[in-house]
Amino acid sequence: MTTDYDIAIIGGGPAGSTAAAYLAKAGLKVAVFEGEMFPRPHVGESLVPATTPVLLETGAMPKVEEAGFPKKFGAAWTSAESRAVPHNGFSGLTHDFRAAEILFSERDQAGVDRDYTFHVDRGKFDLILLKHAEELGADVYQKARVLDVDFDDPEAVALRVRFGPRETEFTAKMVVDASGRNTFLGRKLKVKTPDPVFNQYAIHTWFEGLDRKALAVNPDQCDYIFIHFMPIKDTWVWQIPITDTVTSVGVVTQKKRFTEAGPDREKFFWDVVGTRPDLEESLRKAERVQPFRQEGDYSYSMTEICGDRFVMIGDAARFVDPIFSSGVSVALNSARIAAADIVAAAEAGDFSHARFAGYEGRLRAGVRNWYEFISIYYRLNILFTAFVQDPRYRLDVLKLLQGDVYDDEEPKALQAMREIVTAVEQDDTHLWHPYLGTLRAPSAAPAF
Ligand SMILES: Cc1cc2nc3c(=O)[nH]c(=O)nc-3n(C[C@H](O)[C@H](O)[C@H](O)COP(=O)(O)OP(=O)(O)OC[C@H]3O[C@@H](n4cnc5c(N)ncnc54)[C@H](O)[C@@H]3O)c2cc1C
Repeated sequence: MTTDYDIAIIGGGPAGSTAAAYLAKAGLKVAVFEGEMFPRPHVGESLVPATTPVLLETGAMPKVEEAGFPKKFGAAWTSAESRAVPHNGFSGLTHDFRAAEILFSERDQAGVDRDYTFHVDRGKFDLILLKHAEELGADVYQKARVLDVDFDDPEAVALRVRFGPRETEFTAKMVVDASGRNTFLGRKLKVKTPDPVFNQYAIHTWFEGLDRKALAVNPDQCDYIFIHFMPIKDTWVWQIPITDTVTSVGVVTQKKRFTEAGPDREKFFWDVVGTRPDLEESLRKAERVQPFRQEGDYSYSMTEICGDRFVMIGDAARFVDPIFSSGVSVALNSARIAAADIVAAAEAGDFSHARFAGYEGRLRAGVRNWYEFISIYYRLNILFTAFVQDPRYRLDVLKLLQGDVYDDEEPKALQAMREIVTAVEQDDTHLWHPYLGTLRAPSAAPAF
């Protein structure tokens, strides 16, 4: 049967445009349907080095370099603790827990040819990737919202797409859902499961003139991403350079705290930030240049991420929590891994579920590593700082922070961390016991 396209992609964010780039390069006839007109603002501005091999493979890297985004050489965490936390129970540690940082160049990573990644204005970055896919031969439709996908025909999928007042139908051999947290197919197929542990909420904006040097422990690191731990449990603030003078700042906390605080979002932002007076003082001196934006209900998994004639990638497949800046790298790498299975399926003329088993296994294993790591962080975040500073585990943790999670066994630091969390949970006299967070993962982690 002839169809309009080999592959139809819903969504032109980093996942959709990267999948389109790989598939168009492989000679397939690809359409991307994007509901918005780019550039459009988007949360998720700090990349990890696992994006580099993908940007190199698709050929988008020179365009990303040319855009002049701030280079990200590392990451730093500051703590609300004004004193060193005792390290009883975890022998061999002689450091304190007030700050930690890593440099990506400390560990070689396959396919990564530079010692930095980027912080990006997502409006610009996403547009670059979408245009790149178009230049490689994908048909990109913007302001084209997919309203429905029909799987009734066993040999093709039919997509109903709205262009302004007009609706048009397109057919394709299969569909890739890259619709982000809109989770188009997850909702349609009723396979979306809210995360039982994480129900986080974020409020964020951009500031002009924030003195990033004043907030850095070492001023040379002021263009790292900074994660500032707040004295409120499970609460942290990101600080991400967008340009030399513009900085993205976001508060992440449990949604129930926001709900309890009432409708004044701006007050909530300042109340949380005010629990770290050093941070508040610097922010008050800077000028807010964007409206506050909020993100909620963003942690979920899918009981199925592929099936006959469909695959979900990026946030459309899964979202956990952005603490370690994993989202765009999951988007790009899920597109990379799925594209290999899709090309093989097209060659075989068989788009059945079994064709995508390789993708499903690798994505689930990779994201499971992230999930465990994030869960442990929320349960006992001083443990994270301890592991970053411990020479026995530093490179293993760095591997996770680089986003290097798809192609190997589980990093050994995760097992060691799990054992310590259990020991601290079971011993209420443990000096770290008061530092346990309230989110009880990973024991309650969903299957993914
Ligand atoms: C608070 C917060 C902070 C974050 N911080 C970071 C960070 O620092 N670093 C990082 O890497 N990630 C971060 N993320 C995650 C990051 O935002 C996402 O993982 C990333 O954008 C996923 O890319 P995607 O292409 O899957 O989805 P998206 O970028 O969301 O793209 C999906 C696209 O699909 C389109 N679409 C949706 N429905 C339809 C439809 N029916 N028809 C047509 N088009 C449609 C949308 O318009 C959108 O353009 C953060 C997320 C949150 C919530």
